[in-house]
Amino acid sequence: MHVSAAFDSGNIEVVDASDPSAVRLRIRKDAGGDHMQWFHFRISGVRDVPLTLVIENAKDCSYPEAWPGYQAVASTDRDTWFRVDTTYEGGALRITHTPDADAIWFAYFAPYSHERHQDLVADAQSAGARLEVLGRTVDGRDLDALTVGEGPRAIWVIARQHPGESMAEWWMEGFLARLLDADDALARRLKSKATFHVVPNMNPDGSVRGHLRNNAAGANLNREWETPTVERSPEVKAVRDAMDATGVDLCLDVHGDEELPYNFVAGAEGIPGWTERMATLQKTFCAAYEVADPDFQTVHGYPDDHSTRANMTLCTTQIAQRFDCLAMTLEQPFKDTADTPELIHGWSPERAKRLGAAVLDAFAAVIDGLRP
Ligand code: ZN
Repeated sequence: MHVSAAFDSGNIEVVDASDPSAVRLRIRKDAGGDHMQWFHFRISGVRDVPLTLVIENAKDCSYPEAWPGYQAVASTDRDTWFRVDTTYEGGALRITHTPDADAIWFAYFAPYSHERHQDLVADAQSAGARLEVLGRTVDGRDLDALTVGEGPRAIWVIARQHPGESMAEWWMEGFLARLLDADDALARRLKSKATFHVVPNMNPDGSVRGHLRNNAAGANLNREWETPTVERSPEVKAVRDAMDATGVDLCLDVHGDEELPYNFVAGAEGIPGWTERMATLQKTFCAAYEVADPDFQTVHGYPDDHSTRANMTLCTTQIAQRFDCLAMTLEQPFKDTADTPELIHGWSPERAKRLGAAVLDAFAAVIDGLRP
Protein backbone atom coordinates (compact mmCIF):
# COMPACT_ATOMS: atom_id res chain seq x y z
CA MET A 1 0.00 0.00 0.00
CA HIS A 2 1.27 3.47 -0.95
CA VAL A 3 -0.05 6.85 0.15
CA SER A 4 0.98 9.86 -1.93
CA ALA A 5 0.13 13.54 -2.07
CA ALA A 6 3.03 14.60 -4.28
CA PHE A 7 0.89 16.11 -7.02
CA ASP A 8 -1.16 19.23 -7.89
CA SER A 9 -3.23 20.25 -4.83
CA GLY A 10 -2.07 17.21 -2.84
CA ASN A 11 -2.03 17.52 0.94
CA ILE A 12 -1.43 14.79 3.51
CA GLU A 13 1.33 13.62 5.83
CA VAL A 14 1.66 9.92 6.57
CA VAL A 15 2.29 9.01 10.21
CA ASP A 16 1.95 5.25 9.72
CA ALA A 17 0.56 3.38 6.71
CA SER A 18 1.52 -0.15 7.72
CA ASP A 19 -2.00 -1.23 8.70
CA PRO A 20 -4.87 -0.66 6.20
CA SER A 21 -7.40 -0.86 9.04
CA ALA A 22 -5.75 2.09 10.80
CA VAL A 23 -3.89 4.34 8.36
CA ARG A 24 -2.61 7.25 10.45
CA LEU A 25 -2.58 10.58 8.59
CA ARG A 26 -2.20 14.30 9.30
CA ILE A 27 -3.20 17.37 7.28
CA ARG A 28 -0.29 19.71 6.49
CA LYS A 29 -0.60 23.41 7.35
CA ASP A 30 -0.85 26.19 4.76
CA ALA A 31 2.12 28.51 4.35
CA GLY A 32 1.78 31.00 7.17
CA GLY A 33 0.99 28.21 9.61
CA ASP A 34 -2.42 29.47 10.72
CA HIS A 35 -4.72 27.37 8.53
CA MET A 36 -5.35 23.80 7.40
CA GLN A 37 -8.34 21.66 6.45
CA TRP A 38 -7.90 20.76 2.78
CA PHE A 39 -6.68 17.21 2.09
CA HIS A 40 -6.15 15.35 -1.17
CA PHE A 41 -4.17 12.14 -1.54
CA ARG A 42 -4.00 8.84 -3.42
CA ILE A 43 -3.78 5.34 -1.97
CA SER A 44 -2.56 2.56 -4.24
CA GLY A 45 -2.44 -1.22 -3.93
CA VAL A 46 -5.75 -1.42 -2.09
CA ARG A 47 -8.22 -3.20 -4.39
CA ASP A 48 -10.86 -4.89 -2.22
CA VAL A 49 -8.95 -3.92 0.94
CA PRO A 50 -11.18 -2.55 3.73
CA LEU A 51 -9.58 0.79 4.61
CA THR A 52 -9.89 2.90 7.72
CA LEU A 53 -8.12 6.24 7.34
CA VAL A 54 -7.65 8.31 10.47
CA ILE A 55 -6.81 12.01 10.10
CA GLU A 56 -5.43 12.51 13.56
CA ASN A 57 -5.16 16.31 13.66
CA ALA A 58 -8.72 17.03 12.47
CA LYS A 59 -9.48 18.78 15.77
CA ASP A 60 -6.63 21.26 15.15
CA CYS A 61 -7.98 22.31 11.74
CA SER A 62 -9.31 25.80 11.02
CA TYR A 63 -12.95 24.71 11.37
CA PRO A 64 -13.23 21.68 13.67
CA GLU A 65 -16.96 22.47 14.03
CA ALA A 66 -17.30 21.57 10.36
CA TRP A 67 -16.45 17.89 10.79
CA PRO A 68 -19.68 16.57 12.37
CA GLY A 69 -22.01 15.67 9.50
CA TYR A 70 -19.22 15.88 6.91
CA GLN A 71 -18.54 13.02 4.45
CA ALA A 72 -15.24 12.95 2.54
CA VAL A 73 -15.20 12.46 -1.25
CA ALA A 74 -13.37 9.74 -3.18
CA SER A 75 -12.85 8.82 -6.81
CA THR A 76 -11.27 6.01 -8.80
CA ASP A 77 -11.50 7.80 -12.18
CA ARG A 78 -10.81 11.38 -10.95
CA ASP A 79 -14.00 12.41 -12.72
CA THR A 80 -16.85 11.30 -10.49
CA TRP A 81 -16.37 12.06 -6.79
CA PHE A 82 -18.66 10.17 -4.42
CA ARG A 83 -19.15 10.49 -0.70
CA VAL A 84 -17.63 7.89 1.63
CA ASP A 85 -18.45 6.96 5.24
CA THR A 86 -16.85 9.50 7.53
CA THR A 87 -17.16 10.03 11.27
CA TYR A 88 -15.60 12.52 13.66
CA GLU A 89 -14.70 11.01 17.02
CA GLY A 90 -12.19 11.99 19.68
CA GLY A 91 -10.82 14.84 17.58
CA ALA A 92 -9.98 12.57 14.63
CA LEU A 93 -11.68 12.20 11.25
CA ARG A 94 -12.23 8.53 10.40
CA ILE A 95 -12.91 7.52 6.77
CA THR A 96 -13.90 3.92 6.02
CA HIS A 97 -14.14 2.51 2.50
CA THR A 98 -13.31 -0.62 0.51
CA PRO A 99 -12.11 0.43 -2.96
CA ASP A 100 -13.04 -1.66 -6.01
CA ALA A 101 -9.93 -0.46 -7.86
CA ASP A 102 -6.17 -0.60 -7.36
CA ALA A 103 -5.83 3.11 -6.66
CA ILE A 104 -8.25 5.59 -5.13
CA TRP A 105 -8.10 9.34 -4.50
CA PHE A 106 -9.61 10.97 -1.42
CA ALA A 107 -10.21 14.70 -0.96
CA TYR A 108 -11.98 17.32 1.14
CA PHE A 109 -13.99 18.29 -1.97
CA ALA A 110 -13.70 17.43 -5.68
CA PRO A 111 -10.34 19.01 -6.64
CA TYR A 112 -9.99 21.56 -9.43
CA SER A 113 -6.51 21.25 -10.91
CA HIS A 114 -4.25 23.93 -12.36
CA GLU A 115 -4.31 22.00 -15.64
CA ARG A 116 -8.09 22.25 -15.69
CA HIS A 117 -7.82 25.97 -14.89
CA GLN A 118 -5.68 26.42 -17.99
CA ASP A 119 -8.24 24.49 -20.04
CA LEU A 120 -10.96 26.74 -18.60
CA VAL A 121 -9.31 29.98 -19.71
CA ALA A 122 -8.28 28.49 -23.07
CA ASP A 123 -11.86 27.33 -23.73
CA ALA A 124 -13.17 30.75 -22.72
CA GLN A 125 -10.72 32.41 -25.09
CA SER A 126 -11.86 30.11 -27.90
CA ALA A 127 -15.47 31.03 -27.15
CA GLY A 128 -14.80 34.76 -27.48
CA ALA A 129 -13.53 35.97 -24.10
CA ARG A 130 -10.48 38.22 -23.90
CA LEU A 131 -7.73 36.70 -21.72
CA GLU A 132 -5.45 39.04 -19.83
CA VAL A 133 -2.76 38.44 -17.20
CA LEU A 134 -3.36 40.98 -14.44
CA GLY A 135 -0.17 40.17 -12.57
CA ARG A 136 2.08 37.49 -11.12
CA THR A 137 1.54 35.42 -8.02
CA VAL A 138 4.14 34.94 -5.29
CA ASP A 139 5.26 31.65 -6.89
CA GLY A 140 5.38 33.30 -10.33
CA ARG A 141 2.13 32.02 -11.82
CA ASP A 142 -0.07 34.14 -14.11
CA LEU A 143 -3.10 35.73 -12.52
CA ASP A 144 -5.68 35.26 -15.28
CA ALA A 145 -8.66 37.50 -15.96
CA LEU A 146 -11.29 37.05 -18.65
CA THR A 147 -13.28 39.91 -20.15
CA VAL A 148 -16.66 39.16 -21.69
CA GLY A 149 -19.27 41.53 -23.12
CA GLU A 150 -19.24 45.16 -24.23
CA GLY A 151 -21.91 46.87 -22.12
CA PRO A 152 -21.32 50.05 -20.11
CA ARG A 153 -21.69 48.52 -16.64
CA ALA A 154 -18.69 46.82 -14.98
CA ILE A 155 -19.47 43.50 -13.30
CA TRP A 156 -16.61 41.75 -11.50
CA VAL A 157 -16.85 38.06 -10.61
CA ILE A 158 -13.95 36.47 -8.75
CA ALA A 159 -13.47 33.06 -7.17
CA ARG A 160 -11.19 30.94 -5.06
CA GLN A 161 -9.46 33.54 -2.92
CA HIS A 162 -9.46 30.55 -0.55
CA PRO A 163 -7.89 27.82 -2.67
CA GLY A 164 -9.34 24.86 -0.74
CA GLU A 165 -12.81 26.07 -1.74
CA SER A 166 -12.54 24.30 -5.09
CA MET A 167 -16.33 24.41 -5.61
CA ALA A 168 -15.82 28.08 -6.38
CA GLU A 169 -13.95 27.27 -9.58
CA TRP A 170 -16.45 24.53 -10.51
CA TRP A 171 -19.09 27.27 -10.16
CA MET A 172 -16.99 29.45 -12.50
CA GLU A 173 -16.99 26.73 -15.13
CA GLY A 174 -20.79 26.69 -15.27
CA PHE A 175 -21.02 30.48 -15.12
CA LEU A 176 -18.54 31.03 -17.97
CA ALA A 177 -20.03 28.30 -20.16
CA ARG A 178 -23.43 29.99 -20.06
CA LEU A 179 -22.11 33.54 -20.28
CA LEU A 180 -20.16 32.58 -23.42
CA ASP A 181 -22.98 30.58 -25.01
CA ALA A 182 -23.87 32.43 -28.22
CA ASP A 183 -27.25 30.67 -28.32
CA ASP A 184 -28.28 31.89 -24.86
CA ALA A 185 -30.42 35.00 -25.33
CA LEU A 186 -30.20 36.05 -21.66
CA ALA A 187 -26.40 35.87 -21.79
CA ARG A 188 -26.41 37.98 -24.98
CA ARG A 189 -28.63 40.60 -23.37
CA LEU A 190 -26.40 40.77 -20.27
CA LYS A 191 -23.30 41.15 -22.43
CA SER A 192 -24.90 44.10 -24.25
CA LYS A 193 -25.59 45.81 -20.91
CA ALA A 194 -22.40 45.00 -19.02
CA THR A 195 -18.77 44.08 -19.39
CA PHE A 196 -17.90 41.10 -17.21
CA HIS A 197 -14.44 40.93 -15.62
CA VAL A 198 -13.88 37.40 -14.39
CA VAL A 199 -11.02 36.04 -12.27
CA PRO A 200 -11.66 32.27 -12.09
CA ASN A 201 -8.86 31.61 -9.59
CA MET A 202 -7.53 34.38 -7.33
CA ASN A 203 -5.10 32.02 -5.60
CA PRO A 204 -3.45 29.57 -8.02
CA ASP A 205 -0.39 29.13 -5.79
CA GLY A 206 -2.46 28.02 -2.80
CA SER A 207 -4.48 25.76 -5.09
CA VAL A 208 -1.43 23.92 -6.42
CA ARG A 209 0.16 23.77 -2.96
CA GLY A 210 -2.92 22.15 -1.43
CA HIS A 211 -3.76 25.03 0.93
CA LEU A 212 -7.10 25.73 2.54
CA ARG A 213 -6.98 29.53 2.75
CA ASN A 214 -3.57 31.16 2.27
CA ASN A 215 -1.37 32.10 -0.67
CA ALA A 216 2.31 31.14 -0.97
CA ALA A 217 3.35 34.08 1.27
CA GLY A 218 0.99 32.89 4.01
CA ALA A 219 -1.61 35.62 3.40
CA ASN A 220 -5.34 35.00 3.67
CA LEU A 221 -6.24 36.97 0.55
CA ASN A 222 -9.72 37.84 1.78
CA ARG A 223 -8.14 39.87 4.59
CA GLU A 224 -5.89 41.89 2.27
CA TRP A 225 -8.30 44.16 0.41
CA GLU A 226 -7.72 47.29 2.49
CA THR A 227 -3.92 47.43 2.04
CA PRO A 228 -2.69 44.77 -0.41
CA THR A 229 1.06 44.69 -1.06
CA VAL A 230 3.23 43.35 -3.87
CA GLU A 231 5.22 41.24 -1.40
CA ARG A 232 2.40 39.67 0.57
CA SER A 233 -0.72 39.78 -1.61
CA PRO A 234 0.17 40.63 -5.23
CA GLU A 235 -2.96 38.75 -6.37
CA VAL A 236 -5.29 41.15 -4.54
CA LYS A 237 -3.25 44.21 -5.46
CA ALA A 238 -3.40 43.34 -9.16
CA VAL A 239 -7.16 42.79 -9.10
CA ARG A 240 -7.96 45.84 -6.97
CA ASP A 241 -5.82 48.03 -9.24
CA ALA A 242 -7.69 46.66 -12.26
CA MET A 243 -11.00 47.36 -10.51
CA ASP A 244 -9.90 50.94 -9.85
CA ALA A 245 -9.27 51.27 -13.59
CA THR A 246 -12.66 49.90 -14.72
CA GLY A 247 -14.84 51.00 -11.82
CA VAL A 248 -17.23 48.44 -10.32
CA ASP A 249 -21.03 48.37 -10.53
CA LEU A 250 -21.43 44.87 -9.09
CA CYS A 251 -18.93 42.48 -7.50
CA LEU A 252 -19.55 38.83 -6.68
CA ASP A 253 -16.85 36.92 -4.76
CA VAL A 254 -17.39 33.13 -4.84
CA HIS A 255 -16.43 30.93 -1.88
CA GLY A 256 -17.23 27.72 0.01
CA ASP A 257 -18.26 27.45 3.65
CA GLU A 258 -16.92 24.57 5.73
CA GLU A 259 -19.77 24.46 8.23
CA LEU A 260 -23.15 25.54 6.83
CA PRO A 261 -25.06 23.10 4.56
CA TYR A 262 -26.53 25.87 2.38
CA ASN A 263 -25.84 28.12 -0.58
CA PHE A 264 -26.23 31.71 0.54
CA VAL A 265 -25.06 35.27 0.04
CA ALA A 266 -23.31 37.44 2.61
CA GLY A 267 -23.47 41.16 1.89
CA ALA A 268 -21.71 44.32 3.01
CA GLU A 269 -24.36 45.32 5.56
CA GLY A 270 -21.88 46.52 8.19
CA ILE A 271 -20.04 49.13 6.11
CA PRO A 272 -20.37 52.88 6.81
CA GLY A 273 -21.58 53.44 3.23
CA TRP A 274 -24.37 50.83 3.28
CA THR A 275 -27.45 52.19 1.55
CA GLU A 276 -31.10 51.32 1.06
CA ARG A 277 -30.31 51.01 -2.63
CA MET A 278 -27.74 48.28 -1.94
CA ALA A 279 -30.20 46.48 0.33
CA THR A 280 -32.91 46.51 -2.34
CA LEU A 281 -30.56 45.33 -5.10
CA GLN A 282 -29.23 42.52 -2.92
CA LYS A 283 -32.71 41.37 -2.02
CA THR A 284 -33.75 41.39 -5.67
CA PHE A 285 -30.63 39.48 -6.68
CA CYS A 286 -31.18 36.79 -4.04
CA ALA A 287 -34.90 36.37 -4.82
CA ALA A 288 -34.16 35.84 -8.51
CA TYR A 289 -31.30 33.44 -7.75
CA GLU A 290 -33.53 31.32 -5.53
CA VAL A 291 -36.13 31.01 -8.31
CA ALA A 292 -33.47 30.19 -10.93
CA ASP A 293 -31.87 27.45 -8.80
CA PRO A 294 -33.59 26.08 -5.66
CA ASP A 295 -30.17 24.92 -4.40
CA PHE A 296 -29.74 28.60 -3.49
CA GLN A 297 -31.71 29.90 -0.50
CA THR A 298 -32.14 32.98 1.66
CA VAL A 299 -33.26 31.60 5.03
CA HIS A 300 -29.90 30.43 6.40
CA GLY A 301 -26.58 32.28 6.35
CA TYR A 302 -24.23 34.26 8.53
CA PRO A 303 -25.80 36.22 11.38
CA ASP A 304 -26.59 39.85 10.57
CA ASP A 305 -23.70 42.16 11.16
CA HIS A 306 -25.53 45.47 11.35
CA SER A 307 -24.41 46.42 14.85
CA THR A 308 -20.74 45.59 14.40
CA ARG A 309 -18.26 47.65 12.46
CA ALA A 310 -17.50 45.96 9.16
CA ASN A 311 -14.12 44.41 8.53
CA MET A 312 -12.90 46.48 5.59
CA THR A 313 -10.14 44.01 4.70
CA LEU A 314 -12.64 41.71 2.94
CA CYS A 315 -13.29 41.95 -0.79
CA THR A 316 -17.05 42.44 -0.38
CA THR A 317 -16.90 45.21 2.23
CA GLN A 318 -13.94 47.00 0.63
CA ILE A 319 -15.46 47.00 -2.86
CA ALA A 320 -18.96 47.98 -1.73
CA GLN A 321 -17.51 50.91 0.22
CA ARG A 322 -14.92 51.88 -2.38
CA PHE A 323 -17.30 51.95 -5.34
CA ASP A 324 -20.67 52.51 -3.62
CA CYS A 325 -21.89 49.38 -5.39
CA LEU A 326 -23.59 46.07 -4.78
CA ALA A 327 -20.93 43.60 -3.57
CA MET A 328 -21.62 40.12 -2.24
CA THR A 329 -19.89 36.95 -1.14
CA LEU A 330 -21.48 33.72 -2.40
CA GLU A 331 -20.97 30.72 -0.13
CA GLN A 332 -21.46 27.09 -1.20
CA PRO A 333 -21.35 24.08 1.13
CA PHE A 334 -18.58 21.51 1.45
CA LYS A 335 -21.21 19.08 2.74
CA ASP A 336 -24.56 19.20 0.95
CA THR A 337 -27.62 21.40 0.87
CA ALA A 338 -29.81 20.49 3.85
CA ASP A 339 -33.04 21.36 2.00
CA THR A 340 -32.22 19.65 -1.32
CA PRO A 341 -29.77 16.85 -0.48
CA GLU A 342 -28.25 14.40 -2.94
CA LEU A 343 -26.92 11.50 -0.94
CA ILE A 344 -24.40 9.90 -3.31
CA HIS A 345 -22.39 12.99 -4.25
CA GLY A 346 -23.52 15.67 -1.82
CA TRP A 347 -22.70 19.18 -3.05
CA SER A 348 -20.76 18.40 -6.23
CA PRO A 349 -19.01 19.90 -9.25
CA GLU A 350 -22.09 19.29 -11.39
CA ARG A 351 -24.38 21.14 -8.99
CA ALA A 352 -21.86 23.96 -8.50
CA LYS A 353 -21.75 24.39 -12.29
CA ARG A 354 -25.55 24.59 -12.45
CA LEU A 355 -25.52 27.21 -9.70
CA GLY A 356 -22.92 29.16 -11.68
CA ALA A 357 -25.05 29.07 -14.82
CA ALA A 358 -28.15 30.15 -12.87
CA VAL A 359 -26.50 33.34 -11.59
CA LEU A 360 -27.22 34.94 -14.97
CA ASP A 361 -30.89 35.12 -13.99
CA ALA A 362 -29.93 36.91 -10.78
CA PHE A 363 -27.71 39.37 -12.66
CA ALA A 364 -30.57 40.01 -15.11
CA ALA A 365 -32.87 40.92 -12.22
CA VAL A 366 -30.61 43.74 -11.00
CA ILE A 367 -28.73 44.90 -14.07
CA ASP A 368 -30.99 47.82 -14.94
CA GLY A 369 -30.72 49.07 -11.36
CA LEU A 370 -26.92 49.30 -11.52
CA ARG A 371 -25.21 52.50 -12.60
CA PRO A 372 -24.93 54.11 -15.06
ZN1 ZN B 1 -13.73 31.41 1.60
